[in-house]
Amino acid sequence: MDRVTPGRRRFLGFAAAAIVAGTTFPAAAARRLMRPRAVALHNLHTGEALNTVYWADGRYLPDAVQRIEWLLRDHRTDETHPVDPQLLDLLVDLQSRLRTHAPFEVLSGYRSPQTNAVLAALSDGVAQNSLHLDGKAVDLRVPGRGLRYVRAAAMSLRGGGVGYYPHSDFVHVDTGRIRYW
Ligand SMILES: [Zn+2]
Repeated sequence: MDRVTPGRRRFLGFAAAAIVAGTTFPAAAARRLMRPRAVALHNLHTGEALNTVYWADGRYLPDAVQRIEWLLRDHRTDETHPVDPQLLDLLVDLQSRLRTHAPFEVLSGYRSPQTNAVLAALSDGVAQNSLHLDGKAVDLRVPGRGLRYVRAAAMSLRGGGVGYYPHSDFVHVDTGRIRYW
């Protein structure tokens, strides 16, 4: 018995640790996953600002998402478009990666085909098939965070495309293919 007991004790200790790990780690991860998600946005063209929980208890909140879509509308035509929920989640992750609570300053969210065509004709930096047309892209900057830092943080998330526009002082993020420019 003397030879068995220490081993058995070790085994019991290990089993207890496994049970503790098995019960607490997934619970903590689940709590993290289930934490309400909020996004803070400031549209520099319209001056409108919004800080809202858009996801809670396992679902996107239609009223909040609608208000976000209005803030991200084509400010030239006042047209809205469904926003890709993944884009909102990407912004939440980006904000957390940047360790800030500052609202995103939005230079461009949704663009109607008409607006995009006009902008594409005026600038080389605007794509004909821009993901802004699909509600899957935002051009932004973040108060208190350098543009290079914002770009690096966005790239590290590997959530889609990241474009760097230092002359216009913004970073483009989208939920399309992972690509950088
Ligand atoms: Zn863009």
